[in-house]
Amino acid sequence: MAWRMLRRKDFHTGLVNLAFRRDDGAKKHFSNETIGKLARFYRSDMANHAANCKPSNHFSIRNFHAGVYMLAWSQKREDVVGLKAPKREKRVKRENRTQPPVEAPYIAPKPKTASKSLPDKTVEIFDGMTLIDLSKRTGAYISTLQGILADLGEKVESEFDSISIDLAELIAMELGVNTRRMHTGEGTNEPRPAVVTVMGHVDHGKTSLLDALRQTSVAAKEAGGITQHIGAFVVEMPSGASITFLDTPGHAAFSAMRARGAAVTDIVVLVVAADDGVMPQTLEAMSHAKAANVPVVVAINKCDKSGADPERVRIQLGSEGLLLEDMGGDVQVVEISAVAKSGLDKLEEALLLQAEMMDLKARIDGPAQAFVVEARVDRGRGPLATAIVKSGTLVSGQHIVVGAEWGRIRSLRDTAGNTTESAKPAMPVEIEGLRGLPMAGDDVVVVDSEERARMLSQGRKKKQEKDRLRKIDQGMKDELEIKEDIPERVEMPIIVKADVQGSVQAVTDALRSLNSAQVFVNVIHVGVGPISEHDIDLAQACGAYIVGFNIRSPPIAITQAAARGNIKVLLHKVIYHLLEEMGKAIVEKAPGTAETQVSGEAEVLNIFELKGRSKSKGPDIKIAGCRITDGHFSKSGTMRLLRSGDVVFEGPCASLKREKQDAETIEKGNDCGLVIQDCDDFQVGDIIQCLEQVIRKPKFISTQSGSVRIEC
Ligand code: GDP
Repeated sequence: MAWRMLRRKDFHTGLVNLAFRRDDGAKKHFSNETIGKLARFYRSDMANHAANCKPSNHFSIRNFHAGVYMLAWSQKREDVVGLKAPKREKRVKRENRTQPPVEAPYIAPKPKTASKSLPDKTVEIFDGMTLIDLSKRTGAYISTLQGILADLGEKVESEFDSISIDLAELIAMELGVNTRRMHTGEGTNEPRPAVVTVMGHVDHGKTSLLDALRQTSVAAKEAGGITQHIGAFVVEMPSGASITFLDTPGHAAFSAMRARGAAVTDIVVLVVAADDGVMPQTLEAMSHAKAANVPVVVAINKCDKSGADPERVRIQLGSEGLLLEDMGGDVQVVEISAVAKSGLDKLEEALLLQAEMMDLKARIDGPAQAFVVEARVDRGRGPLATAIVKSGTLVSGQHIVVGAEWGRIRSLRDTAGNTTESAKPAMPVEIEGLRGLPMAGDDVVVVDSEERARMLSQGRKKKQEKDRLRKIDQGMKDELEIKEDIPERVEMPIIVKADVQGSVQAVTDALRSLNSAQVFVNVIHVGVGPISEHDIDLAQACGAYIVGFNIRSPPIAITQAAARGNIKVLLHKVIYHLLEEMGKAIVEKAPGTAETQVSGEAEVLNIFELKGRSKSKGPDIKIAGCRITDGHFSKSGTMRLLRSGDVVFEGPCASLKREKQDAETIEKGNDCGLVIQDCDDFQVGDIIQCLEQVIRKPKFISTQSGSVRIEC
């Protein structure tokens, strides 16, 4: 007769009632000790064993705790219930649940790129350092440094011998390490003029201010108002003190120079238009100056305009954290008009005062350390670089390395165009005699000989090329990683053809200077000689522009092929004209940035109320009876309600009427009735601004000195 096990769990107590019952209805209970045995027997042949146990007809149920026993039961683990000593099992590594199943395709985790998080290594080098010093700074073995020295053809007896700063740079470049030249503070430090950069929002009058200041410069006085534009000018005060102004307004030049280690600016003039107030690029300029730890002098411009409100600008600047003098801070504010040329003397005085407070001094004697602020190619005189000396004295005839270019100074010219024998700190000079075109921000280094200049230039070019390739590589990786974060940037492929190799290089460099955040100027092919069929094919395949400099007009067949392929061919003999045309094409191609602009301003003259409307038709409505005092109002615009210069409300236009007729736009000088959605807080005398979304294209900026750039 077979026995069956009965289990029933009591959910209140967690105990399990266990019993065995025979087919004829008889039940049997077991002691706790035997339960474990039963587990084993039950697994093998429980029923038969139990049958041999001579069960009595005694009827009983035993209770035991479900937890451990039932676990043992279900897992068939005798050891738990005391039948066997626990057997040590081999430790098995827990399966990683996040791993994909075997049949799922394996996607390798993205490697973290070291170069992204680690900044490029820059070491400080100085004249007279030893190989041990260099080894410590670069982390390279002395034997490696000695190997590089041997390759360079230089011999150093021991690692304790001092080496020149140029040699140290050459070794560092071979190692792929950036260098920062440290100059000994030997020699007397003497007071020097301040170097000033003008920054501010687009159209706030930076260029106009520089033009006005330039007319008061030494050069203008000497040349009867006609100035030589070389990227910087000097204004001399009646006291004999002078100020050097950098002639390239805007943040791009400032930050590009700073990024290249050229901290030439001592003071920033922050231009804010009195009729427009603080705008995004004003804030940007403030953060640039703050990051560079350069003090700011505020010039509130356009004070001649009827809508000028300098007080509002002061309040805005104060609320942006600029501690203005009037508010107990130390930032000077001057009200000016670049067009009416008023307040310029006050601005110059403020700058002198700021410079005095800074106690600007520099070493006068010894080799010069200078930075390029502008560079251009002159057809007659070759590459020209305007540099500002930081310390030491630059002397005509010296061998120099400028960025990756080198040369011997054939002549130095001051801002008035006069040749000079030497240039002292803060003095801008135009250097003639370079072999290639350097870039703004490049450092000017004086070296002993032509051979050393050539070597250093070659070394720097090699390093630049390595860095360029590394950046492209990194850029491609980054592009894959953060594709969606990249702002819209269109490409402008260009093929450059010119008469000689030198022009090809100069045109290519100049075109690349038109690179901007919105348009990537990609010179895909260069060559010497006339435009060929191959150039046309390539241009068609890539949608490229063909730029011809100083070459003869292509034969008719080529011109026709270009016309058929809709290829733009630009032929020029003056590099500036070429850049101007390309600049315009780039601006046209740029996607632009969406910006909110004040399209019009109106004054509230009267308030009307539409009362007694039923619930279903909506609540009472307040209508502002306004006169448009500036620009135009559109129904699609957003309305901003201002009271005493503060924004009280901003919302979409619910209704715009002129003489009780709905209107889409209303021009300046007209009266209108205006309802702003959800706004019933009008007061007579309030100002309402109409804000419109506009696409702002970048600006092609050209200075009279011939330098150009695209400002986004
Ligand atoms: P930038 O973009 O900051 O260099 O600004 P610009 O110097 O090109 O000036 C933009 C516009 O503002 C030009 O039309 C100037 O004539 C005008 N502007 C500049 N300064 C003044 C000023 O003091 N008063 C007036 N009324 N207009 C000015």
